[in-house]
Amino acid sequence: MNVHLIRSSELSVETFANVLNLLKSFRGPIEYHSGESEATLNELLTRTWETEKDFQRKMPFPQFSISEKRSFFSFPREENYQNWQYFFEKCYEAREDWFIPSTDHVFLLTDLANERNWFGAMGPSGRDYFIHTADWGHYFGSQVDIRFPIAYEISMWIVRHLMFSDTENYVQHVHQDTRGCGNDFCRNKKDIILKMRTADLCSDCMEIVEKRKISPLLLSQLFDTMDGIRNNLSFRERGKVIQQPSKLELRGYQQRIFFTDFGDLELRLNPKEKTIYLFYLRHPEGVPLVLLQDYRDEIGMLYRRYTNQSEPSEIAQSIDRMLDPRDNDINVILSRIKKKLKNTVGESLLPYYQIEGEHGGAKRITLDREFVKWVE
Ligand SMILES: [Zn+2]
Repeated sequence: MNVHLIRSSELSVETFANVLNLLKSFRGPIEYHSGESEATLNELLTRTWETEKDFQRKMPFPQFSISEKRSFFSFPREENYQNWQYFFEKCYEAREDWFIPSTDHVFLLTDLANERNWFGAMGPSGRDYFIHTADWGHYFGSQVDIRFPIAYEISMWIVRHLMFSDTENYVQHVHQDTRGCGNDFCRNKKDIILKMRTADLCSDCMEIVEKRKISPLLLSQLFDTMDGIRNNLSFRERGKVIQQPSKLELRGYQQRIFFTDFGDLELRLNPKEKTIYLFYLRHPEGVPLVLLQDYRDEIGMLYRRYTNQSEPSEIAQSIDRMLDPRDNDINVILSRIKKKLKNTVGESLLPYYQIEGEHGGAKRITLDREFVKWVE
């Protein structure tokens, strides 16, 4: 089964790549592809949410009372949106532009809100979808790593496609009550948190799955993905309390960096960032920035391993810049590493992984090296 993800132009390239990589890290018969083009959305409609209650309501169903308060937005809140048909047409356009076969699945990922305020929906073809990629902080708190709810929604829509013949059939079976099943309607959008915590289907839905004789390989890939997402969410929540970091695994010749307890998330660093980060991982005792020059051989060895440059003079120049204390290059590298780390592990666990130290003093990564595993 081929699943194509199309990035709507307002969605960040980084988030898009992160979602794609997360989905790809769970192996099975579903292959995820990045759509070659981006979709540009225009002719937007505008609406205003007077209160938070209105905003959290999925239409056209009546709302529940809201017990928990979070102030992610202020109300009244004006936003742009479009109708469902508009999003599905973007999927058709992508199919035509890129010759995507009608049997493949196409997901448009967009920050733009939709007419009924849903997290996502399936089009009349049963193979075109859109997923709303913004506002997750409102439900999960501003620390949320949004690739998880987005990847969860994508997986769950594929499950629904497998279970139900079309949207009408889906709407007939969707649960109005909240059971912690992937097919709960979640009229209060905050109930989505419960769905993701259970990462499961109820017995009624399992019966449908059995009757439809869905390929076990497909299902196991989808459930592995949702389990991975759930484990990540709960690891983070426990992490806040017990303050335990995830293990780091460095894999292969390229030494790709994975947080194994965070649903196997990859920390994607460019060659310079990776050189500096792995250098500091190798030096738990810490090294002041001004002394990096003394480690030129080791840093050069690492950089040559990760860079795409092949010209020796270019490589030497890049290394010179990294190590020159008068050049700002190293500070830019350090701040980019910090930003990427923060996006991956969140604020509360950041101190374990970041390279830090007093100005002018030794910099180090404080993570206990027992949490680091090098895998060839
Ligand atoms: Zn169910």
